[in-house]
Amino acid sequence: MYDVIIIGKGPAGISASLYTVRANLKTLVIGKNDSSLWKAEKIENYYGFSQVIRGQDLLEEGEKQATRLGAEILNDKVISIEGNEHFEILTSDGKFAAKAVLIATGQPLKKVRVENLELFEGKGVSYCSTCDGFFYNNLKVGVLGYSDYALHEAIELEAFTKDITIYTNGKELEINSQFEKDVERFNVVDKQVYRIDGGEFLQKIFFKDGTSEDIDGLFVAYESPSSADFAKKLGIVTDNNAITVDSDQRTNIPGVFAAGDCTGGFKQISTAVGQGAVAGKKIIEYVRNL
Ligand SMILES: Cc1cc2nc3c(=O)[nH]c(=O)nc-3n(C[C@H](O)[C@H](O)[C@H](O)COP(=O)(O)OP(=O)(O)OC[C@H]3O[C@@H](n4cnc5c(N)ncnc54)[C@H](O)[C@@H]3O)c2cc1C
Repeated sequence: MYDVIIIGKGPAGISASLYTVRANLKTLVIGKNDSSLWKAEKIENYYGFSQVIRGQDLLEEGEKQATRLGAEILNDKVISIEGNEHFEILTSDGKFAAKAVLIATGQPLKKVRVENLELFEGKGVSYCSTCDGFFYNNLKVGVLGYSDYALHEAIELEAFTKDITIYTNGKELEINSQFEKDVERFNVVDKQVYRIDGGEFLQKIFFKDGTSEDIDGLFVAYESPSSADFAKKLGIVTDNNAITVDSDQRTNIPGVFAAGDCTGGFKQISTAVGQGAVAGKKIIEYVRNL
């Protein structure tokens, strides 16, 4: 079991790991090379660099620094976080346990555009199978997504209904080998989704080719889960999709901390690094007090 798993290897996550690993906490950092900093060609407002530096170079140096100090870094995406006394982290490639978790996944982005999606939120559209699956007992539900995150949501929904379709929105399924066999249990529709509609509640899903299907519920699990998705599942308080933290970077769930752009506010490298440092220090205290 890890003392801490840090989700996100941008400035916030890596900064936290520098503190936890130097305090001898067994630390795993999980993330991909898609930090928002990856796109920044010129950084000239971060302390300590007399010349302009590329975001990508800063990220690579940070990763090397954390690795040198003993952090384990895994290039993978997290599909779900579960638990309360300790946490189970499921990734595309494996499963890990930790005493504490830091969410440092950056700004949640809008990932899919479907007409009326927002209109039916809470009236057939959900972002959390664990929270809302129960409302769809024996009904026809869909999962909008094409990756193992979507498949994981479909598997969770099997506890409530067997009528489950994965709508890939025109994409090819990208399923990791650990889930390959599970796909066979679901209908898969690979048409591009254009619109959803209904009356008081969701009733239909429409495709770009002019066809449609009846549907009672649509669970959105597009690409990989964001901080907002993790928050919904764990019951973490958010404000306008940003995770609410106290001055010690604690969320309302004991053992779950958050830092960086996912907490809203002034979205800069310096703030992400600062919040990561505070989170690292408070995680050390938390784990030692367990
Ligand atoms: C074009 C551009 C230019 C910018 N220029 C500047 C600048 O000049 N100066 C400045 O201070 N700031 C700048 N910023 C802002 C800066 O990049 C961010 O504030 C900073 O990167 C936030 O750090 P973070 O660690 O919170 O999140 P990020 O750096 O976004 O890192 C998020 C990490 O979380 C991981 N992640 C997300 N979801 C999952 C999941 N499900 N499973 C596993 N990992 C996951 C990602 O792979 C990534 O590793 C710029 C941003 C952009 C887009």
